[in-house]
Amino acid sequence: MVKLRPEILATPPYRQGKPAGADAFKLSSNENPFPPLPGVLEAVVAAAAVNRYPDASALELREVLAARLGVSVDEVHVGAGSVALLSQLITAAAGVGDEVVYAWRSFEAYPGLVTVAGATSVQVPNRPDHSHDLDAIAAAVTDRTRVVIVCSPNNPTGTVVPADDFDAFLDRIPSDVLVLLDEAYAEFVTAPGAVDGLALVGSRPNLVVLRTFSKAYGLAGLRIGWAVGPAVVLDAARAAAIPLSVTEPAQRAAIASLGLEQELLERVRSLASLRDALAHDVRAVGIAVPEAHGNFLWIPAGDEATRAGEILVENGVVARVFPGDGVRVSVGEEDAVGRIVAAARQIVEVLP
Ligand code: PMP
Repeated sequence: MVKLRPEILATPPYRQGKPAGADAFKLSSNENPFPPLPGVLEAVVAAAAVNRYPDASALELREVLAARLGVSVDEVHVGAGSVALLSQLITAAAGVGDEVVYAWRSFEAYPGLVTVAGATSVQVPNRPDHSHDLDAIAAAVTDRTRVVIVCSPNNPTGTVVPADDFDAFLDRIPSDVLVLLDEAYAEFVTAPGAVDGLALVGSRPNLVVLRTFSKAYGLAGLRIGWAVGPAVVLDAARAAAIPLSVTEPAQRAAIASLGLEQELLERVRSLASLRDALAHDVRAVGIAVPEAHGNFLWIPAGDEATRAGEILVENGVVARVFPGDGVRVSVGEEDAVGRIVAAARQIVEVLP
């Protein structure tokens, strides 16, 4: 028998949003429903020399991002999705015997990434309103803590961290503990006062902000995300990276997307309005949807979560079920709104 690490054997593989049949909407992966802009597709096609390796350092994209952010290229890092960046950063800072602290429930990939790094997860329950409990997270930091992850907007609950609270929180975290601010859904935030990691660039020696092209920019299938933070930390992430994993088509598409940002952010604004309208409608039928700042809604359903997911499927919507906790429905398909509201009316009936 091959000897495999027991903690890896006990770790389930990443659970992807379920596909939907022909008559159903797939609203289980927080994807952007808009097809790529023609200019983005052209950039992908122009990068079709796939017999060649990509630029391992993604230098041109990093130069574009660095110029926008007013930082040096060394303070920007690019990975095959922000999940790859999370993996590299966790691995770079935390190993066997070290702790990684994060809120729970939050992004489902965190526990697995921490386990793969060999470190130990410390999960801090969200508050009753489903938002991060920053005081409790700060209080959970010990001598063994190497990384703290904050997710805003939080997947799957949708809540954001207020900017002032985050500042006070950072003051409480020792400067040798790496803080990862995961802002995969930042572009969908319209509420004033929410943390904006890009406004904090350069302010702390231990803060790295993570962004992605998967959500607002609609490039989920190409796998590309970026991080901004202290060069010494990002150099360690680069050292922990699997080389050459960010493809040239992905790099080209990302650069083209930044050039077409106004058009893409126009789409994001329409998705955010659709989200607000849907959240209003679902609350109106009696479901306590928390603040929703990403491109998804959280339906707290407790023990009835699986049943709630089934009801959505019966109405032609495939959502992400978190058994015993809730259901997350991505927002984007206007034609799905009526189905979601119809399902919500039935879900209210089964909730305790
Ligand atoms: N962070 C959060 C909070 C997410 O929800 C996701 C994707 N679901 C990611 C990171 C990873 O996104 P990607 O790897 O596509 O950039």
